[in-house]
Amino acid sequence: MIIGAGFAGLNAAKRLRSAPVRITVLDRRNHHLFQPLLYQVAAAALNPSDIAMPIRHILRRQKNTEVLLGEVTEVDPAGKRVHLDVGSVSYDYLIIATGATHSYFGNEQWSRFAPGLKTIEDALIIRRRVLLAYEMAERERDPELQQRWLNFIIVGAGPTGVELAGALAEISRQTLERDFRRIDPTRARIILLEGAPRVLPPYPEDLSEAAKRQLIKLGVEVHTGAQVTAIDGEGAVVGSQRIPARTVIWAAGVAASPLARSLGVPLDRAGRVVVEQDLSVPGHPEIFVVGDLAAVKSDGKPVPGVAPAAIQEGRHAALNIAREIRSLGRLPFRYRDKGSLATIGRAAAVADLGRVKFTGLIAWLAWLVVHIFYLIGFRNRVLVLLEWAWSYLTTQRGARLITGFPADEEVLAPPQAPAAPLPSAASKARVDSH
Ligand SMILES: Cc1cc2nc3c(=O)[nH]c(=O)nc-3n(C[C@H](O)[C@H](O)[C@H](O)COP(=O)(O)OP(=O)(O)OC[C@H]3O[C@@H](n4cnc5c(N)ncnc54)[C@H](O)[C@@H]3O)c2cc1C
Repeated sequence: MIIGAGFAGLNAAKRLRSAPVRITVLDRRNHHLFQPLLYQVAAAALNPSDIAMPIRHILRRQKNTEVLLGEVTEVDPAGKRVHLDVGSVSYDYLIIATGATHSYFGNEQWSRFAPGLKTIEDALIIRRRVLLAYEMAERERDPELQQRWLNFIIVGAGPTGVELAGALAEISRQTLERDFRRIDPTRARIILLEGAPRVLPPYPEDLSEAAKRQLIKLGVEVHTGAQVTAIDGEGAVVGSQRIPARTVIWAAGVAASPLARSLGVPLDRAGRVVVEQDLSVPGHPEIFVVGDLAAVKSDGKPVPGVAPAAIQEGRHAALNIAREIRSLGRLPFRYRDKGSLATIGRAAAVADLGRVKFTGLIAWLAWLVVHIFYLIGFRNRVLVLLEWAWSYLTTQRGARLITGFPADEEVLAPPQAPAAPLPSAASKARVDSH
């Protein structure tokens, strides 16, 4: 049984393709999602189906595997059963790969005002709020309130925050430049807030500096050492300073999937399962935990929560199961770090490949090639390449649709007083969410 068909779970299933086992892959979504490109959906550059694919389709040729849609609510290690939203299923071996979710560091009330980016729904909410903000600014007559709609705050300057900030700057400076009549979209302020002393904290210092320079060149306001103490419908508070903005995006914290708690084993501070070196759960050699949900060290260093680590761990857990079935011993996990890449915008990126580090166009091209290579499915690769070529040549973004999330209405509603009416017949028009 494999719970979760993200990078770790899917690769575990594929690795067991020719093993004499029957596999059940359970996921609460019907699709595998390529999270590294999610920010491009949020930034209206790609469509959801460009970066997601039905799990059933990916595994269609794997005869020893069935795929079930369902949310696992609890694991019962003693009874060797997994409880779902409906019913329960038993297992001999279990691989748990349910990943991570947002953490608002105990301030869950911020989530309403500052959506995080983890799922397709999150990306569509962000896309909607960003595009609607420009529409609302166009309707607004009061210059101060108008500017509030044109202020965008991103909390957290890790890879996701940096990518989003770069993309939002490009939307305002290039994509929308000529689309509005009353507002000048290039007046939009993209404000990136980071609590640590530099952007991209896990990267070497010189690359952080290079990333900061590239962000500033794109027009992003970068504030480091900026601890956010409050977020509401009017913006964010840093220390004693309030930054007004109608759009705030959360890219700051992650916490492990809550499913780990039901195992009753030691968890680290982020809620991840501290696994043995063979990736099994202490006291339960038949259960493996892999990907973002696992806390494991390799060569004395913590393995990072990134896609290549999840892929390698998923494959390794599967390998250990396959070996045990053939009465071979288990092997300890070792992470092969191939380096890190973060993109900032068109022809702007940083790459840390260990001994080699580079920035700018070459790093961006490397980022492009790697992301196309790891995208699942030929169709997606072609579509994404075409979309990228199109937006590179035209600076346009093909997915600029405002689609509905009615629960968002309250957050997006004008502050106290309704927006000033428009002077023409268009004043009767309402910004419709559907
Ligand atoms: C916006 C964003 C950008 C990123 N960019 C990069 C990048 O550029 N490079 C990089 O290396 N890494 C990046 N990462 C990190 C990378 O995506 C993760 O490290 C990786 O996805 C972890 O894989 P996983 O299999 O552990 O979890 P996931 O890929 O998150 O998969 C978990 C799966 O479990 C399912 N699931 C969860 N709970 C349940 C449940 N209770 N019942 C059933 N199913 C469940 C989910 O639906 C999902 O399919 C990014 C992450 C995000 C969010």
